[in-house]
Amino acid sequence: MIEAGEFDYVIAGGGTAGCVVAARLSENPNVTVCLLEAGPSDVNDGAILRLEDWMYLLDSGYDWDYLVEPQEKGNSFLRHARAKVLGGCSSHNSCIAFWTPKEDLDEWAANGCEGWSAAECWPRIRRLETNDGPGDHHGRDGPVNIRTVPPEDPCGVARCWRQRRRPACRRRASTRVRR
Ligand SMILES: Cc1cc2nc3c(=O)[nH]c(=O)nc-3n(C[C@H](O)[C@H](O)[C@H](O)COP(=O)(O)OP(=O)(O)OC[C@H]3O[C@@H](n4cnc5c(N)ncnc54)[C@H](O)[C@@H]3O)c2cc1C
Repeated sequence: MIEAGEFDYVIAGGGTAGCVVAARLSENPNVTVCLLEAGPSDVNDGAILRLEDWMYLLDSGYDWDYLVEPQEKGNSFLRHARAKVLGGCSSHNSCIAFWTPKEDLDEWAANGCEGWSAAECWPRIRRLETNDGPGDHHGRDGPVNIRTVPPEDPCGVARCWRQRRRPACRRRASTRVRR
């Protein structure tokens, strides 16, 4: 780590996006990159590594602790969580991963979001993941490990899903979630 000096790139915010951009730029050994983060490092912090306790991190100093503006019809004490730690919200979130439905991406593209169609985005998602789920669309050798939620997962995701009477199966990869 370089303490001070001049850099080819300075990235403000060592959150999810900032860390990825810094990592990708640093792959070139000929450029220098400075990543600035307002919060502390999360490296080797057991509290961050215990996924089942992620909600306690929201009240631990690893969050900016924003409050919402007073609401006209009540519910004004809601917290608006935003991480203040290296890794950003990906350090203190519950690590749930969804594949973006094809129809949503294609709708974005049809509405003018150039480059966001499923045909353009899905190969990138595939490249990102090592996924243990069924289907040819999944990546098997990317840097991010994604596994199917086990029935008794430590975060209680599957339990909440069942309590909301959702079927305990994978939804089809191209199906939009409806309430
Ligand atoms: C509680 C919670 C749970 C979530 N759960 C999931 C989930 O399960 N799955 C999922 O896919 N997504 C989840 N998300 C969403 C996901 O984590 C975010 O969309 C994503 O992390 C945003 O990345 P980002 O880089 O835009 O911002 P952030 O990750 O918020 O990064 C911004 C960084 O900039 C830093 N910063 C801000 N101001 C300054 C400054 N002036 N100087 C230096 N640094 C600064 C902050 O401290 C922070 O680290 C969750 C989000 C929250 C809040």
